Amino acid sequence: MGEIKDIVRKLVRKYKTSDPYELADYLNIIVLIDNLDESIRGYFHYFKRNKIIHINSKLSDKDKRIVLAHELGHAVLHPRLNIIFMEHNTYFVKSKYEYEANKFAAELLIDDCDIKDIRYESASYIAATLGVNEELVKYKIILK
Ligand SMILES: [Zn+2]
Repeated sequence: MGEIKDIVRKLVRKYKTSDPYELADYLNIIVLIDNLDESIRGYFHYFKRNKIIHINSKLSDKDKRIVLAHELGHAVLHPRLNIIFMEHNTYFVKSKYEYEANKFAAELLIDDCDIKDIRYESASYIAATLGVNEELVKYKIILK
């Protein structure tokens, strides 16, 4: 999965930001904060040549950012698959695409320098310190 890390690194270098909202803007991806059902965190779809990300307005700002980073992963890595990538709260989809989108989000939201000195702490400590969740910490550290 070194490839995804490289893709993220190139994007961050090109646009000089790792902020998912700014990146979406640069990449002409439409981000909509919608009043979605509570069971859905967000979704990505490709519609009439538009890349559109929907995020549930009920999420906290932190979770919105995490979901957006994940959906950006789909938008960048899986743009034209003609699948609606939907993130549910209730179960975890273990597809290759979900794995890749999580890896993308982990690389985007967790900087190598920021994690260097705390990487042997617990996942919950790292997640709290860096403002992400434990799942992304695992994708960053364990799943290469
Ligand atoms: Zn997904």
